[in-house]
Amino acid sequence: MTSRVNTADYIWMGGEIIPWGQATVHVNLLGHSTVSAVYEGIKAYWNADKQQLFAFRLDEHVRRFMDSVKMVRLNCKYTPEDLRAAMLSLVRANKFREDCYVSPLIYETGIIRSYAHPNLSRPTEVVIDTWSFASQMTTERAINCCISSWTRISDNSSPNRIKCVSNYHNGRLASLEALINGYDLPIILNDRGKVSEGPGACIFIVRGGKAITPSVTSDILESITRESILQICREVLQIPTEERDVDRTELYVADEMFFCGTWWEVTPVASVDRLPVGNGSMGPITRAIGRAYHDIVRGIDTRYEDWRTPVW
Ligand code: PMP
Repeated sequence: MTSRVNTADYIWMGGEIIPWGQATVHVNLLGHSTVSAVYEGIKAYWNADKQQLFAFRLDEHVRRFMDSVKMVRLNCKYTPEDLRAAMLSLVRANKFREDCYVSPLIYETGIIRSYAHPNLSRPTEVVIDTWSFASQMTTERAINCCISSWTRISDNSSPNRIKCVSNYHNGRLASLEALINGYDLPIILNDRGKVSEGPGACIFIVRGGKAITPSVTSDILESITRESILQICREVLQIPTEERDVDRTELYVADEMFFCGTWWEVTPVASVDRLPVGNGSMGPITRAIGRAYHDIVRGIDTRYEDWRTPVW
């Protein structure tokens, strides 16, 4: 059976917008060139009433991309302004008038025979891909999770703070284990035994009316959605927040729980290790946060204007 692959007409590579199928590299780049590669994942949301598409927190994503590039010691020939403009022009070239995902990736080029090079002297290239991505927000889907038997990589081994492709093997192993055992998504504990995050999303629990999330020193990616939700809780919904260590067993007694991230948006958790979270469906605080986030990313709620970059 063949599945329909969701690709756009155009991709950005080496400073140009070219047909998607023409963006090829030499086979020698398979392997070591991806050890240091870093990327970003950005979402643009369509507002049907205004006939406008808004890229959500584009500048913060570009900033994190450049921070990642710096930390893996790659040399990027494009400025943040170049990348920002490239992403907007690519989405426009694809004529997207629907929700879509935008993903820049930087990787080493040349002849690659080793992963350890004085990277700043090594050539790199950037490719930016985009594809349509239907939002799951407001569907009330809830997922079943487990605590992974894998431990989160730590800041002093392979820092989660950055979006380095290599980091994702840890999340991949945890995801495969969860899926094989009949769960939707794993929750990964760090090497101190505290909750870190999911393979591609951060975690919030709700206890006693407070929204609680592991702190940025819990071996998590510094998620832009997490940061936005903390601000929305405090400023829009008047929900108190806490950023601190979260124990595994707090998940079992939480009133509500959800994952958040560009890809996962606000996704409620129905159960952890087969123990129901609350009554096993989306709770009222999660629903309120999801609704507020949805309205802000689409520009239905016009507050936080600087979070939305109009594509058109
Ligand atoms: N953690 C990991 C490991 C991720 O890959 C992502 C997705 N980028 C997140 C958290 C959520 O981050 P953001 O809200 O910036 O998308």
